[in-house]
Amino acid sequence: MKVGILGGGQLGRMLLQQSANFVVETYVLENDEHCPAAHLCHHFTKGSIRDFDTVYNFGKHLDAITIEIEDVNIEALEKLESEGVKIYPKPAALKIFKSKILQKQFYVSNEIPSPEFIIAQNKNDVIVNNHFLPAVHKLAEGGYDGKGVEILKEENDFERAFDAPSVLEKMVKIKKEIAIIVAMSDAGETVTFPAAEMHADPVLNLLDYQLSPAILPEKLLWKSEAIALAVLNGLKSPGLFAVELFIDFDDNVWVNETAPRVHNSGHHTIEANYSSQYDMLWRIILGYPLGNTNAILPSAIVNLIGADGFFGKAKYDGLNDVLKMENVFVHLYGKTQTKPGRKMGHVTIVSSDYQELRYKANKIKNTLKVISE
Ligand code: ADP
Repeated sequence: MKVGILGGGQLGRMLLQQSANFVVETYVLENDEHCPAAHLCHHFTKGSIRDFDTVYNFGKHLDAITIEIEDVNIEALEKLESEGVKIYPKPAALKIFKSKILQKQFYVSNEIPSPEFIIAQNKNDVIVNNHFLPAVHKLAEGGYDGKGVEILKEENDFERAFDAPSVLEKMVKIKKEIAIIVAMSDAGETVTFPAAEMHADPVLNLLDYQLSPAILPEKLLWKSEAIALAVLNGLKSPGLFAVELFIDFDDNVWVNETAPRVHNSGHHTIEANYSSQYDMLWRIILGYPLGNTNAILPSAIVNLIGADGFFGKAKYDGLNDVLKMENVFVHLYGKTQTKPGRKMGHVTIVSSDYQELRYKANKIKNTLKVISE
């Protein structure tokens, strides 16, 4: 079977690593021939995943296509789908998640709880809705990793408002942020991975570390899982999806957003779960039975981010010390150049003891630094 991946970043790289366990011929389309996934696939095509002709020509001889990022040419995927190429997820589902406006409307029409919102077409729409503050202002398209998101607390903050289609969302008082990965086979069977909980760095406003399975009262876990499954059932698309949720101080559960693809919040499933998110997606694409999502052991993830002030050829300071630690798995994405804030890798820790997970996560953060030569 010939399977193409649109995008050759770290997620594509890990998907390809897992492909070695199956009989599959892999193809990657990406603009940069030095991208993390380029040397792991059978066939690499240099080109834009946003260009209709490029995506269509890449896909027309393939059996199936999946994505590692939403920002792809959906019209080309629709044409390919109409000609018999299987697309995971379906282009109709992709369309919903490419736009934060369509995504919010999808939640409303499927009675899935998500923070109250209004749609703004331009900056003026934001300004005239000042009664909606404090709000989280989200660019409808093109935002990624916190870019395209502004917190607007008071009218003075309007100077930071986007002058483009966007969503203005009521600020939720978040007690815990979690993510649940769900997947659906061609036959409509579904599975749910255990929830992961995110801990943000209060200064950098970036993920500090992640723990899985999330520690939550059973009732809240059930509620969250039911909501994540409701997203999948509303979509009715085979594929794998990461549903990010907020739990507020009144124990309400809200969907923040859904990624229609393998996701950073599922990196740990490689070592910590019987079937990883990557294994699961291959099973779906290749038509095999779904895997077992249970955790073998609890786990933590620490991201390796380019340190402040360092640009150029990446150097991993402290790598030997971390590689010596027990039950710790280092994943470097093979990016040669670092810059502040760039995602360069991640480290997974497994242990039955959550205290040990937290201790090691902290130790790794303080030991392993991505600097430049
Ligand atoms: P991105 O797609 O760039 O990751 P998100 O929509 O996930 O952006 O928002 C980034 C972060 O902003 C979230 O992880 C959360 O901490 C915060 N956030 C987003 N929406 C809200 C909200 N309605 N209320 C409170 N905090 C929010």
